[in-house]
Amino acid sequence: MAIPEHADYVVVGAGIHGLSTAWRLAQRLLDAREEVEGRIIILDKSGVASGASGIACGVVRNNYFQPAMRKLMAHSVKVWESDPEGLHYHPVGYMQISCESMRKDIQSIYNQQLEIGYESEFIEGENATTHYMRSMFEDWQAQNITSILHEKQGGYANNTKTLYALAEKVESMGVRIVSGIEVTGFNFDSASPAVRSIETNKGTITCEQIVIGTGPWVRDFWTMLGLPKQITVKSLNGEVHDNVDMWRYWQLEEGVLTVPPETLLTDNGNVPPVIHVDTDAPLISDVDGSVITDELWGIYYKPDWHFGGVQGGASPYKVNTPVDDVAIDPYGPSSPEFVSSSEFAHMWVSALAHCHKRFEGMMPKYHREPSGGIGCFTPDSFPVFDTFCENVAIIADSNHGWKMIGVGHLVADELLGEKQELLEPFRFSRFARGELHPVSNSPYPWS
Ligand SMILES: Cc1cc2nc3c(=O)[nH]c(=O)nc-3n(C[C@H](O)[C@H](O)[C@H](O)COP(=O)(O)OP(=O)(O)OC[C@H]3O[C@@H](n4cnc5c(N)ncnc54)[C@H](O)[C@@H]3O)c2cc1C
Repeated sequence: MAIPEHADYVVVGAGIHGLSTAWRLAQRLLDAREEVEGRIIILDKSGVASGASGIACGVVRNNYFQPAMRKLMAHSVKVWESDPEGLHYHPVGYMQISCESMRKDIQSIYNQQLEIGYESEFIEGENATTHYMRSMFEDWQAQNITSILHEKQGGYANNTKTLYALAEKVESMGVRIVSGIEVTGFNFDSASPAVRSIETNKGTITCEQIVIGTGPWVRDFWTMLGLPKQITVKSLNGEVHDNVDMWRYWQLEEGVLTVPPETLLTDNGNVPPVIHVDTDAPLISDVDGSVITDELWGIYYKPDWHFGGVQGGASPYKVNTPVDDVAIDPYGPSSPEFVSSSEFAHMWVSALAHCHKRFEGMMPKYHREPSGGIGCFTPDSFPVFDTFCENVAIIADSNHGWKMIGVGHLVADELLGEKQELLEPFRFSRFARGELHPVSNSPYPWS
């Protein structure tokens, strides 16, 4: 089929953000009895689910120390809850299980969840938390735990299944998804900063509005749009830092233990909430008894029938390659350079055994195929949702974004001229203004 020469709305990227933006936009146009066919197109250089969204663990949680993130997640969870079956979403809940150094942070998250009506429970103290966990799993044995935030909402969704369902949904509404077309540049208006057409490897497409949802490839779009590679960042204590790289990469480490997913059912035979444990108890190798770390460490895991085992991850590590030299392609498990390390497998499986006796001696069950992928982070590790060059909306996030299915909806509403308060704390200007998101005591750069 010929490549269109014009579309009112061009969305670049067929991941969770691009698809959810197109979904809402198409719905709004249909609600207003306007035509969708020929007006909205999604361009992807590979196809649906070929970026971070296609490999994401799929965890949906509200547990963020940053109030703005929490509100945004609550909004996104509502979108997931609007059609659990259709979106392949499993509302099993989520548990943040933590050691003492994190208790106060987590308590403040719980208090804020109460304020916004997000359903959760907070359990405190070593005995009470052990009792709570053992009422679910009699072999629970994690050490140094003094709080549990049990979110009754949230859970996880099956990455590719969700994306294919979204693609089908938007196509049925009249959106066209064009795969195998690579955006290579932008042509600007002669009289304003706006973009008037998009260059691709298959020709030029004129447009009115553009949405960029390109996950880890945002670095390249930033450059194509002539946005600054280095910026000034005012930190929360008022210090001004010049020439800070706008982007940096981290490797997100995830893997699968190839045991029947039922291995992790609760003692009552139920699917448990997604479990996230952060503790400062020494982590001892389940392979040779050595100390893997005696510093704060964290893992998350869930039984997952889509991945075929117990699936999860741990804290990411920084990619030290200079940002411009990071080879994003081939992405994810196909990357010769950026996949989960063997140290990850050793750490993660030993950590599972630290938490549950049932995982002791399971190292040989670790799925040895490559997994994980890189994410592109901003200076404060939180996303940027903003409009640049007058008509280019950028959804810049490859680290938190699976769960944020509602962001595309808000961006679509902004395209129709309705400013969204939930997006305000994520504007690019926050770096210069010193309005960064607060930092927690979690071992993750994004929590
Ligand atoms: C291993 C891993 C696990 C994760 N787990 C979770 C999780 O459990 N929960 C959570 O909330 N988040 C998670 N994330 C983060 C989440 O996956 C991302 O934030 C989110 O998927 C980003 O979605 P996106 O639609 O912006 O980009 P992507 O899904 O990366 O899609 C971008 C698309 O843009 C296309 N593209 C790129 N360049 C071009 C071009 N020049 N022309 C045309 N198309 C182009 C690509 O082909 C790709 O299909 C995880 C990330 C990783 C890497």
